[in-house]
Amino acid sequence: MARPEQLDLFAPAAAPADRSLGGATSSRPRPPGSLRLFVLGSGSGGNALVAEAEGRRVLLDAGFSAREIVRRLRLGGLDPRDLEAIVVTHEHGDHARGAEQLSKRFKLPVWASAHSWTARSLRRVERAHRFQPGDRFELAGFRLHSFPVPHDARQPVGLVLESAAGLRLGLVADLGRVTRQVLEALTDLDLLVLECNHDERMLETGPYPWPLKRRVASDLGHLSNSGAARLIGELVRGASPPRLSDIVLYHLSATNNCPVLARETCLRALGRHARSTRITMTCQETPTGWLEVGSQLPLRHEAPERTA
Ligand SMILES: [Zn+2]
Ligand SMILES: [Zn+2]
Repeated sequence: MARPEQLDLFAPAAAPADRSLGGATSSRPRPPGSLRLFVLGSGSGGNALVAEAEGRRVLLDAGFSAREIVRRLRLGGLDPRDLEAIVVTHEHGDHARGAEQLSKRFKLPVWASAHSWTARSLRRVERAHRFQPGDRFELAGFRLHSFPVPHDARQPVGLVLESAAGLRLGLVADLGRVTRQVLEALTDLDLLVLECNHDERMLETGPYPWPLKRRVASDLGHLSNSGAARLIGELVRGASPPRLSDIVLYHLSATNNCPVLARETCLRALGRHARSTRITMTCQETPTGWLEVGSQLPLRHEAPERTA
C-alpha cells in the first residue's frame, strides 16, 4: 500500500494555482504581459525553475525527483497540472532526474535536444519532443530559442524564452565558457538566469580531487564567478540604462563558492547599473519566491540573500 505522503504529494493541490508563498510580488494581481519566474532550487544536487507568462507555465529542467518537484511546486502555489511542458537543457541528473516520472504521471511533454535522448536519464520518456540546438519554436505561449553551449553533455543547450508581450528570459545552466553564440543569444534580455558555479581560488584550494577540479574549470565544465561577471559586463556595456533588469545567479557550488562572493563579483561587473539591476541568489535547499519582470512597479530591492 502506498504511504500516505505519497498519495498527498501526487494528489491535486488544494490551493489555487496563483497563491504563492514567496516573493514580494507573489500576492498582488499581475498585469497582463508580465513574466514571472519561480526557481525550485539550484546547485549541483538539482536544478529546476518555472517560467510563467499570460498564465501559462513551462518547467525548465527537472533536476530533482518527481516527488520533490511536486513538493517544491506546491511551495510556489503550483500543481504539476498547471504546467504545459518540460524543457531539459541537457541529460545530466541534476537537470533531468525527475523528467521521466513527472512526464508519465502528469502527461507532460518533454522537450530536449536530439542527442540528449540517447542518455539513460531520458531514454524512457514517452512524450519526447526533439529539437536541434539553434531551433526556434512555440511552446506554452512562449517563443523559444535554443542555442548550443559548451559543456560535457551530449548536446547541451541554453534557452531564451520570449513572452507574447515581448519580455525575454535567458537561461544558461551549465556553461564551460562564453562563446560568441552564447553572447549573441543573450543580448536584449529582461531577465537572465546565469550559472555562477565557483570561485576560482576556492576551487583551486578546495577539497575536490584534481581531475574533478580540472573538469569543473575546463571549457566544457562550469562557469566561475569571474566568468559570469565578464559575461554580465558584456551584456550591460553600452546600454544606458540596460534592458536587463533582473539577474538570477544559478547553480552555485556549495563547496567551491560563497553566495556573498558570487554576488559581489557580479555586482562589480554591473558598475553604474548596479542600482537598476536586481540580483537574486538561488540555493539548493529552498525555492526562491516568485520573481516578476515587466510589471509597471519599480524594482525596489534585491530578494533576500540565501546561503548555498
Ligand atoms: Zn551538466
Ligand atoms: Zn548542472
